[in-house]
Amino acid sequence: MQIDILTIFPHFFDQFLRHGMVRVARQTGRLDVRITDLRAYAEDRHRTVDDRPYGGGPGMLLKPEPVFRALDALGLAAGAAAPEGTLPLLMCPRGQQLGQQDLEQFSGARRWIILCGRYEGYDERIVEAYPWRRVSLGDYVLSGGEVPAMAIIEGAIRLLPGVLGDGESALRDSFNEWTGPEGLDHAHWTRPPQYRGRGVPEVLLSGDHGAIEKWRRENSKQQRSNRLQATRGTNHESVNSGEPGESPARITDGAAFKEVPGENDVEQDQ
Ligand code: SAH
Repeated sequence: MQIDILTIFPHFFDQFLRHGMVRVARQTGRLDVRITDLRAYAEDRHRTVDDRPYGGGPGMLLKPEPVFRALDALGLAAGAAAPEGTLPLLMCPRGQQLGQQDLEQFSGARRWIILCGRYEGYDERIVEAYPWRRVSLGDYVLSGGEVPAMAIIEGAIRLLPGVLGDGESALRDSFNEWTGPEGLDHAHWTRPPQYRGRGVPEVLLSGDHGAIEKWRRENSKQQRSNRLQATRGTNHESVNSGEPGESPARITDGAAFKEVPGENDVEQDQ
C-alpha cells in the first residue's frame, strides 16, 4: 500500500513513521509512505501556501495553486475520477466520521492520497475539484489534518495482512469479529496477580477456558452498557474527577516528553 500525504508540516510525521505497526509495515514492504511538502509547490519565493478569505473574516485558507500543483505531480487529475485503486482522502471536520468498517474498506485500497488542511481550511475549489472522501475524526476542531491522518493510517495499517504478529489479532478487538461491529473488547489483566491491593478476577486464573470465555462475553456486554451510560451524559462530570476506577490523563513518563532538538524542529507556525 502506498500513502501520499500532502502537508505544510512534513516533519510532523518523522516519529510517527518510525514506531509501532507503521514501522513494521514499512520495514516489511507492506507500506510505502511519501510526504509531499505543499510549500515546495508554492509559486512565489516566500513559498506562500495560505491567503486571506474573500468576504473577510478571521484566519487564512490553504491556497488552491500549491495543492493543485502538488496533486498534478502525484497524478491525481482535477475534475476526473480517481485512478482505479486510489483513494483520495480530505481531512475535514465536515466530513464523514469514520468507523472500523470504513477503515477495513480503506485498507483494501492500493494507494491513499491524504490532504491535510491547516488554518481555517481549504479554498473550496480544492474541495470541489477532486473526488475526495471527506473524513472527520470526530465532532471537534483540531488545528490541522496531520493528527487525523495519523489516526486513520494507524487504524488501517494494523488491518493489512501480516502486520500484526500471530499472537495479536485484530479480530478480537472492539468492533471486530469476536465482539461484532458494535461490540467492545472485554477488560484485561496481566501479572502480578496482586498489585497494590488489587487482584484479578478469579475465573481468569482458573484455567477453565469455557468459563473464561463466558466471563469475557459478559464483561464485553458490560463495557458496552457502561459506555452507553457514559455517552448519555454522565461522562462529562466524571472526567478527571479523580474517582478511583477512572483514568484521568496523567504523564507517567517524563522522559517521553523531553524535547529532542533537531534541525527540523522549528517549522513556520501558523
Ligand atoms: N474552519 C474549519 C476548521 C479548520 S481546522 C471548520 O470549522 O470546519 C484546519 C484543518 O484541520 C481542517 O481543514 C482539517 O484538515 C483539519 N481538521 C480539524 N479538525 C478535524 C477533524 N475533526 N477531522 C479531520 N480533520 C480535521
